Amino acid sequence: PSAAAAMAANKQPHQPQPQQNQQSSKRLEGKVAIVTGGARGIGEAIVRAFVQHGALVVIADIDDAAGRALAAALHVDYEHCDVSVEADVERTVRVAVARHGRLDVLCNNAGVLGRQSATRRSIMSLDAGEFERVLRVNALGAALGMKHAAAAMLPRRQGSIVSVASVAGVMGGMGPHAYTASKHALVGLTKNAACELGAHGIRVNCISPFGVATTMLRNAWRGCGHGDACSCSCRSDSDSDSDDAMEELVRGLATLKGPTLRAADIAEAALFLASDDSSYVSGHNLVVDGGVTTSRNLIG
Ligand code: NAD
Repeated sequence: PSAAAAMAANKQPHQPQPQQNQQSSKRLEGKVAIVTGGARGIGEAIVRAFVQHGALVVIADIDDAAGRALAAALHVDYEHCDVSVEADVERTVRVAVARHGRLDVLCNNAGVLGRQSATRRSIMSLDAGEFERVLRVNALGAALGMKHAAAAMLPRRQGSIVSVASVAGVMGGMGPHAYTASKHALVGLTKNAACELGAHGIRVNCISPFGVATTMLRNAWRGCGHGDACSCSCRSDSDSDSDDAMEELVRGLATLKGPTLRAADIAEAALFLASDDSSYVSGHNLVVDGGVTTSRNLIG
């Protein structure tokens, strides 16, 4: 195909593939799931997919307005939960179990990119406080989730813990230093927890996405340097020209040509790892990146 035709193909909206097995159309029927950072972005897509597949979901987030609005729209629960605060995590798990009688799935999706700018990107200008903040949310937050979810899952000797890591947890050069360190920590934590919790029938896995056009990526792309703490106009989700350029770059880096990675694709991966479809999968990092981390296409 001509370059123009290939570019036109790239512009086609990503079409979800039809379900292969209609019998499994409700893959989380009756399962109780907590999704952290579920108020927007990838977390929101995971919440929607879980609900669509029959799960009883508790959205756990610090953005109370967005979280409550989504929970009301989907008729699910919302709990204020800063994942870096153990009391919040412990309470969220307790609320889910009190309301629904058990916990089947924890999705550790909440994450922050951290503040970055051209002048603060270097390891030589590392901000120790910001480094700790990112590690607390992305790594400690997931560990606290595993701790309290595992305790709730243990009596029934089953459960699935799915964390959203990143390609920055697989290789360097994909994000700020603190973010990269935190996501490598999360991938390692996943493997360690899987070793321990497998003995109790609890599976632990993670997903490593590449670039999905969410508030996090848009803020990084627009380069205001405020990261997730940004409250300036760059937080607006309405700049479609900028989104197009960002998606073009992401597609250009992927060796898989055609589709654009969507939050719904990450939700599909989360659904697989949360459900019994992956009943023998544990300690796995499911990389969803269009081939970015495994190959450099220098030949064609
Ligand atoms: P986002 O910024 O759009 O959404 C993050 C959500 O997490 C928000 O609802 C926010 O309120 C919540 N949150 C932030 N700090 C929290 C805390 N301390 N406690 C509870 N909730 C908190 O980001 P996103 O792109 O949807 O990212 C979701 C996850 O996916 C993150 O872990 C991120 O690192 C990971 N990820 C994203 C991309 C991408 O390209 N967007 C790529 C790889 C990995």
